[in-house]
Amino acid sequence: MENCVFCQIIRGEKPADFVYQDESLVVFKDIRPHAPVHLLFVPKKHVRSLNDLTEEDTPIISHMIFKAKKIARDQEVSESGYKLLFNIERGGGQVIFHLHMHLLAGW
Ligand code: AMP
Ligand code: ZN
Repeated sequence: MENCVFCQIIRGEKPADFVYQDESLVVFKDIRPHAPVHLLFVPKKHVRSLNDLTEEDTPIISHMIFKAKKIARDQEVSESGYKLLFNIERGGGQVIFHLHMHLLAGW
């Protein structure tokens, strides 16, 4: 996906403030944070939105959520609490059409 901003970040063509990456997932700071801690969990596989997820992609979601739990602990926001959020398509507030999950915390 040549013009996809998140694919460009994943390929290293655009900078991002990474906090975690592995073979299937990257996590970086949101460029316009809406909370003291605002991270984006982005699967390396380009999927447009949650609507486009297939049954065989379901491990992607469980991996994202489990890593969110661990990273929340690393960022010391587990106890105070956090939100995990998917914006789905335009009416759901999605503006970048590469599946991602927001972690918001630190209030
Ligand atoms: P969404 O509304 O769910 O599509 O959220 C997209 C998010 O990506 C927004 O919160 C943006 O601030 C964030 N964003 C856009 N471009 C970048 C970028 N280059 N690096 C980090 N975050 C970005
Ligand atoms: Zn993409």
